[in-house]
Amino acid sequence: MQRRLAQAVDETYRSSAQKNATLIETLTALETVKLIGAEGRLQRLWEKSVGHLAQWGQRVRLLTSTTTAGATTIQSVASVIVVIWGVYEIAARDLTMGGLIACVMLSARAMAPMAQVAGLMVNYHQTKASLDSLDGIVAKSQEREQDKPFVQRAEIQGAIAFDRVSFSYPDEKLKAVENISFRIAPGEHVAIIGRIGSGKSTLQKLMTGLYQPTDGAVLIDGVDLSQIDPAELRSHMGCVPQDVTLFFGSVRDNIVFGNPLATDADLLRAAEQSGVSEFVNAHPQGLDRQVGERGSALSGGQRQSIAIARALLSDPAIYILDEPSTAMDNSTEERLKRHLAKLCEDKTLVVVTHKTSLLTLVDRIIVLDQGRLVADGPKDAVLEALKKGQLRVSPAH
Ligand code: ATP
Ligand code: MG
Repeated sequence: MQRRLAQAVDETYRSSAQKNATLIETLTALETVKLIGAEGRLQRLWEKSVGHLAQWGQRVRLLTSTTTAGATTIQSVASVIVVIWGVYEIAARDLTMGGLIACVMLSARAMAPMAQVAGLMVNYHQTKASLDSLDGIVAKSQEREQDKPFVQRAEIQGAIAFDRVSFSYPDEKLKAVENISFRIAPGEHVAIIGRIGSGKSTLQKLMTGLYQPTDGAVLIDGVDLSQIDPAELRSHMGCVPQDVTLFFGSVRDNIVFGNPLATDADLLRAAEQSGVSEFVNAHPQGLDRQVGERGSALSGGQRQSIAIARALLSDPAIYILDEPSTAMDNSTEERLKRHLAKLCEDKTLVVVTHKTSLLTLVDRIIVLDQGRLVADGPKDAVLEALKKGQLRVSPAH
């Protein structure tokens, strides 16, 4: 029974995780589910996983009770056999009545642990399945390996270099970026442009150390990124990701989240420069306005402004902005551009964008296509080459 029990317990653990994943994914995307009319499909999926879980749970219970019932049966049969055998022995005058009673009692005592062992094995398999899944989590690679020494840096100048960097996402055969090399000097302003899926956001994740390159190296101020403490590195970087994530709490909490030492003056400056103050000033609660779960009580553009305020808060040496103004109206974008131009005067700025209006911030453009670097040069020259069709950029994917 043991093998079948272990398999059934494993399966219930797996399907229970699957069931929870379905539930959470559906709940977080509730509006999308309604808009695309996917309620039926997701409900079917949910019912299927509940059914599957119930089926395997029942199998575990069946196996458990079969084992326990089996052990009890063996115990009773043993008592019966002892009594029958004892009666014949008494008839043959080889055993006394008292001797038989003692045998029955002792055999019952000896057999009792057997039933317990059966119950214990069920517990063992359940505990083992839990322990295995915990082991799996603990064994996952960490960003900061234990005992790994990092290079300490008080200041970061802001030089970024990619040296023949290739990267493919885990379990993906295709490379998201391939053989990319470029150097960005401190204080340089660079735009990365390219079609959708060309690897721009991937470059940003490599620069911030969220992923390690499969080949090649990413260097910040000439030091390999893997040698710099990721938390320290990011404290010198102001990043605006493409998908903004806010946390439950107030606007103020969301801006100072990773930077609890920021002063109110810093907070007000960042709010002013990013355009946050524009919409919080008009609200009775001001910066204490609640943003709702994952920022659901704010508009897309407002969420983006908060992400920009986070990046501006600590006055970092490197700004990495991934499409920072996609959800903004023209005048907010203009204001942001004016502030950024002033803030980034002597800072490194890397901006990923599809908007030509943001290109006024930069002097140099890097063009990516299907994960490869196809152009890198002064803004005017690259734009001219793109206009004339001299660059080998593939048609839509
Ligand atoms: P966009 O302009 O649409 O933001 P992008 O240039 O930022 O596009 P990336 O997000 O860098 O594109 O994606 C590059 C490639 O990597 C795409 O083909 C995409 O499918 C793949 N990719 C991105 N993220 C993941 C991921 N987490 N797992 C697997 N593949 C991914
Ligand atoms: Mg992107």
